[in-house]
Amino acid sequence: MSILYRAPLTRMADGTLKQINPFSDTEVWTVPGRANRPLEVDIPNPRPIDPHDLGHHCPFCTQRVLETPPEKSRIVKKHDRDDAVIYHSTGVDMLTREWEFRRIPNLFEIVSFEYWEKNYGYTLSREARARMDSYLADPAGKAHVWGVLCQKFKSSMSPGQWDALGDGERARLAPGLFGSGHDLIVARRHFTDGAQDTSQLASSGTLTPQEHEWYIRLTVEAMRDLYQTNRYAKYVQVFQNWLKPAGASFDHLHKQLVAIDQRSVGGRLEVKKVRENPNLYNEAGVDYAGFHNLTVAENKYAVAIAGFGHRYPTLEVWSRSAHCQPWEHTPEELRGMSDLVHAMHAATGPLVPCNEEWYCKPIDADVNMPWKVLLKWRVSTLAGFEGGTKIYVNTIDPWMLRDRVVPKLLELRAEGRIAQNINIATECSCKVNSLKYNRALQ
Ligand SMILES: [Zn+2]
Repeated sequence: MSILYRAPLTRMADGTLKQINPFSDTEVWTVPGRANRPLEVDIPNPRPIDPHDLGHHCPFCTQRVLETPPEKSRIVKKHDRDDAVIYHSTGVDMLTREWEFRRIPNLFEIVSFEYWEKNYGYTLSREARARMDSYLADPAGKAHVWGVLCQKFKSSMSPGQWDALGDGERARLAPGLFGSGHDLIVARRHFTDGAQDTSQLASSGTLTPQEHEWYIRLTVEAMRDLYQTNRYAKYVQVFQNWLKPAGASFDHLHKQLVAIDQRSVGGRLEVKKVRENPNLYNEAGVDYAGFHNLTVAENKYAVAIAGFGHRYPTLEVWSRSAHCQPWEHTPEELRGMSDLVHAMHAATGPLVPCNEEWYCKPIDADVNMPWKVLLKWRVSTLAGFEGGTKIYVNTIDPWMLRDRVVPKLLELRAEGRIAQNINIATECSCKVNSLKYNRALQ
């Protein structure tokens, strides 16, 4: 048997569960008797919310938009209708109008505009340059951009240096704000509607299923746009850090997209494996999970499982679409993915720190790979054992994860807080070849 296909799950006589991730080869052990502790974090010193402070709590809040870079686009709810449209933002006047989610460049990028410029000769697209020029031609727009640039560069400048710069010198620092490859998708709410104190944060799971679809729709559109506007981008990583232990700077819901000039490390390994077995994601992923009763939920377009071989307890949502890239999905397929990702967040709860990570086919890969979204509960800290052995100890095995999530999902569905057309656990059909990404099966 190929080294690539060791059994993902092996139960030892004493109860220890050895897990191997079939895609990344990550090794994880779950040792009996180490689970059942509470997973939620305490929000330090919750304070009553003063209605006057609403919209001012953090730089992502609605009344502080001038503290973040000029917006690229937003999704706006249509009046009297339960739908929304994406607007490509133009001038600073957009900022006073309402929005549900907005797309802005990250002021402190992981991969900067200069990286693309210096390494590849990347320049602003004609549209981005026109937007920058018109933004700077408006005095309010110019003041906004100078304010944001000052915030970015003043720590690396000597006192008074920023103030001494002329408009031309400042404008040379501005392209990064209009052609960035690291964007944020920011939600409107910081707290849930009617929240009494600062612990009642608005998370992915507290959105309505419709709002969550708008969030996903704007993110997917941003992903498509990043590939389209930067021909040197080989991969766009989409992720969400929720709460500080998961790496979030603010407790205000947002996703991030980062374009990079190579495949991810995992992506490189997976392409090799998929070339050897094009049906890998069915055989070692979703079908394997179904065979071991680890399917948590499904709808017509997606399936959610309790994942195996992860450092942290991980829920996985897989697209069943024959289309690999998120932006190739039909609106119904996108909604199906969104509904399950939303349900997994809702079942996780707003006080569990977690990372949402998207995995997609690299843009230039010659094999088919399905879109999946992982939700990792950041409830443990890695220690020396893991560092030395590269074997990770996870305190919650996939069946325990399933048993925490399934009753929650049943409760949420009964309360009408997640999409109603979701099948849960034993209601799922779990047939073989659940995923249709593999063209050979079509
Ligand atoms: Zn906020």
